[in-house]
Amino acid sequence: MSAWTTAQLDTIRELGHQGVQAVHDAILDRYGVDHTLHAIEAQASRIHASLKVLDECPECHALGIRINRQSGMCKRCTEAAHVAEEEAYSQLLEAEAAGCDSGPEYDELHRRWAQLRQKNSRLMRKHGLKGKRERL
Ligand SMILES: [Zn+2]
Repeated sequence: MSAWTTAQLDTIRELGHQGVQAVHDAILDRYGVDHTLHAIEAQASRIHASLKVLDECPECHALGIRINRQSGMCKRCTEAAHVAEEEAYSQLLEAEAAGCDSGPEYDELHRRWAQLRQKNSRLMRKHGLKGKRERL
């Protein structure tokens, strides 16, 4: 059994929320030391560090929060994605309501819309969110 260094103990504190296996892999990767899972659990308990796996939002990296099963993100980031989508839709409606078919204002709105749609489609693809058609 190899001795534990401060850096290895710090790795437990740093990555404990990802579980004992992640800590094991990180210590092996960083320091080339292959502690048993049991040894890691023993050390974690000794330094009062938790190895309980916590959910992490892939967008804002908040820990220990509830993940929306559909979006895979926390509630706030899920809502932010909804807002971004509605914002784009709103721009379109405003352009329609203004009754303009062309002109600089229309061009600017259309450009902004395309940008937002691209952003939303990236968000939806990245997080497997439902498309607008699937929501209606
Ligand atoms: Zn989030």
